[in-house]
Amino acid sequence: MSWSHIHGHERWVEWFRQVVSRGRLAHAYLFVGPAGVGKHRFALELAKALLCERNDPGQLDACGQCESCVLVQAGTHPDFFRIGKPWIDPTDNEEKNVLPIALMRELCASFGLKSARGRGKVAVLDDADDLHDEPANCFLKTLEEPPPRSVLILIGTSLEGQLPTIRSRCQVIRFAPLREDKLGAILSQHELADPSLAARLVKLAAGSPGQALDLADPQLWEFRNRLLQGFGQPKIDTVGLAKSFIEFVEDAGKEAVAQRRRAALVLKLLIQGWSDALYVQLAGPAASAPAAETALVQPLAQRTRPDQILRVLQRCVETEAHLDRYVQVGLVVEALVDALGQIVESPAGTS
Ligand SMILES: [Zn+2]
Repeated sequence: MSWSHIHGHERWVEWFRQVVSRGRLAHAYLFVGPAGVGKHRFALELAKALLCERNDPGQLDACGQCESCVLVQAGTHPDFFRIGKPWIDPTDNEEKNVLPIALMRELCASFGLKSARGRGKVAVLDDADDLHDEPANCFLKTLEEPPPRSVLILIGTSLEGQLPTIRSRCQVIRFAPLREDKLGAILSQHELADPSLAARLVKLAAGSPGQALDLADPQLWEFRNRLLQGFGQPKIDTVGLAKSFIEFVEDAGKEAVAQRRRAALVLKLLIQGWSDALYVQLAGPAASAPAAETALVQPLAQRTRPDQILRVLQRCVETEAHLDRYVQVGLVVEALVDALGQIVESPAGTS
């Protein structure tokens, strides 16, 4: 199926086709664009196409069946490298928020060896945003003098977030968010547990299919309802809400990265819920809003003032940034629920 599962980036598929057919492939590309928009998927397909042993080397379509294609897909191809976070330091079992120098050295050393299967080498480096000076420096020589027939693909969210030394050595490919109709079409190809959510997911995901599919989990919505109902109670049980929030986040798995991702998704829905409450407060219930949704946010709108909701929203946005900084998830969640409880219960005239 090759490129047929890559949606919304047809322009770049065509561009790479032209480049490959003219034999003008660069040695290093920097893919930038919002999370979940399909950059990694694109890089994987490109790697497969470049290493495929059945296609014509001037073509950009992987057969998907040869040994090479299967090995790339499985992540076990000897000429295909894929690194990124989370990275667990075996000496202290700690998850690190940087791409460590040891890992980069290992990548550079193996990348410099002769291609094992004779079609060149491809490396995909996720999380280029977290490439700090020292590991980046060890990587520069490989970027400057790449082994023949090798391609490095770095993936980050923004061009501004990259080190200038890296930026100047890579050809930049910008991945834009998908249009709403494209995103809607992708969602329609998936069996959503709750199809009535599709239109809301399209709005919430801001052009990112990865984010839309993550948000489609009905458990997230159930939990978000519990949280919003909790904040609508006359006396908010912050201890109980924080406890269930932590349990919900821990249910995502024992890896901190999975827990952080789930906490971030809940936050996104929480921000949306409180924004809806603000809308109801200022303009009354939207005619198009489902009755259950209005019933959920109305108690919040009734018990608060706009300035309180704005503070709630600000606190949620700050918490999103904390999650990115890898503070312990449980502590972040507990502090958030406590702060929101205080804001919502604060009498008029206090701040
Ligand atoms: Zn193949």
